[in-house]
Amino acid sequence: MLTKLPVHIVGQAERLARMSRVAAIVRMSSSAPSTGFFFRQLFDTVSSTYTYLLGDMKTRDAVLIDPVLEHAERDATLVKDLGFKLVYAMNTHMHADHVTGTGKLKSILPGTKSVIGKSSGAQADVYVDDGEVVRFGGYELLAKSTPGHTNGCLTYICHDQSMAFTGDALLIRGCGRTDFQEGSSEKLYESVHTKIFTLPDHYTLYPAHDYKGQTATTVWEEKKYNPRLTKSLKEFIHIMDTLNLPYPKMIDKALPANRVCGLF
Ligand code: FE
Repeated sequence: MLTKLPVHIVGQAERLARMSRVAAIVRMSSSAPSTGFFFRQLFDTVSSTYTYLLGDMKTRDAVLIDPVLEHAERDATLVKDLGFKLVYAMNTHMHADHVTGTGKLKSILPGTKSVIGKSSGAQADVYVDDGEVVRFGGYELLAKSTPGHTNGCLTYICHDQSMAFTGDALLIRGCGRTDFQEGSSEKLYESVHTKIFTLPDHYTLYPAHDYKGQTATTVWEEKKYNPRLTKSLKEFIHIMDTLNLPYPKMIDKALPANRVCGLF
């Protein structure tokens, strides 16, 4: 027998039904996608360094590019929250302006391997050279040697996603300095012109730093608007020779630490 419920109970039942429908929708939308490429740009305000977390949503394998020591806990928490397994903690080069977080990440997330360029002069578990590939899940990063800022500078290219991580070889409307750490303006000019500007125009470029709040650029933009690298080699060398930059304040602490994965 059907009993007629008082109006306030009907209202409550409707509210409960609505709440459970909303909860179901929230559950659906908060469940992680099971395929695809994951990308996250992270920032260190002290050294203006960008760290990148890349992951394969299907296999849950991930890599971090250019992690900063002071943010190792932040990055490890993000990796864990998202259900990733950090396969590699990599550096584009041996940094002089901050201490790398790779060593600390290895201790927080056991199983992680550190990666750096063969010519960097730094210790790591895996050394990569020009033309070698770093794999995580179904994705890969192709390492291209782009010396000039340092000898061991690598640009990591993800052709699948039309993106490249240029480290300090190419910055947004700028480039890394060439006046210390085996710096060579001539080499940097050649690296950028032969290894980065030869990528398809639409590729997005992610630098290791930006000091003006910009986050990314593209190959065509830099080929058209980079105030240094659109010049002739002679003009570029002159620009780099007359920058008159101050001595890097972190260099005496950062280099010895970065030679040993940031663990000192
Ligand atoms: Fe650098």
